[in-house]
Amino acid sequence: MPAYTLASRDASPPRPDTTVQIADGVVIGGRAISVIAGPCSVEGRDMLLQTARGVRTAGAVALRGGAFKPRTSPYAFQGLGEAALDMLAHAREVTGLPVVTEVLDPRQIDLVSRVADVLQIGARNMQNYSLLAAVGESNKAVLLKRGMSATLQEFLLAAEYVMTRGNHAVILCERGIRTFETATRNTLDIAAIPILKRETHLPVLVDPSHATGKAHLVTPLACAAIAAGADGLMVEVHPNPERALSDGEQSLTIPQFDEMMRRIRPFAGVLDRPLGAVALQRAS
Ligand code: PEP
Ligand code: MN
Repeated sequence: MPAYTLASRDASPPRPDTTVQIADGVVIGGRAISVIAGPCSVEGRDMLLQTARGVRTAGAVALRGGAFKPRTSPYAFQGLGEAALDMLAHAREVTGLPVVTEVLDPRQIDLVSRVADVLQIGARNMQNYSLLAAVGESNKAVLLKRGMSATLQEFLLAAEYVMTRGNHAVILCERGIRTFETATRNTLDIAAIPILKRETHLPVLVDPSHATGKAHLVTPLACAAIAAGADGLMVEVHPNPERALSDGEQSLTIPQFDEMMRRIRPFAGVLDRPLGAVALQRAS
């Protein structure tokens, strides 16, 4: 028996794919390919709204945006914190897109949960077991990113930490791992996708932005991820990447994101998978 009992697909009969409902009418996993997009960091109300509208029109089903940022340097922009949460709430109100945002510390969970539809656990916190246990006790879906040096076994055991606390709404996200290669920020582990799809029933997303660190590599790897069986993508988009306060180099402009959505469509089509769409019932 594998060590990750709850996350495992192994059962008789094998467990079918889990779908995670993150908001009314928005489901991650299952047949549809779901794309989550937005800025690395929420930098202001206008840029967030502009990005949210742009990615929604292009076909994203959820808005990402960091309020609390886990930066490598303590001198780098750390996020706008609570003010950014208010901006995310406003962007959801206007566009109808559910919100995915990172939580860095168990003490932030209540505050972030007032706004977030999905709590993101970043790569640097994948093995922060007290944080995993704490989100495991929340009633929000959890997007768990693979640690940059984590094996797939360790990744699945991290998901298991969340699930053992009762929260089974876990979405996995491969975001590249550290290798000797320096041409890219990380190395996208394409094999992780079919391995995870075989090992676990949880939805598997790919983040080609952090996996490469370069905007021109995002679309090719997004196509590769869909072709390899990913259930969706998480992509960084900024209205003006050159002026971004974090991760500008890997951020797509809104037109580039629209183009990426067009380019992944045939790969989804070959696999007979529709691109997820959010009901555009609210004001634009
Ligand atoms: C992010 O998605 O904003 C992020 C910080 O990514 P990661 O945790 O994968 O580095
Ligand atoms: Mn980022």
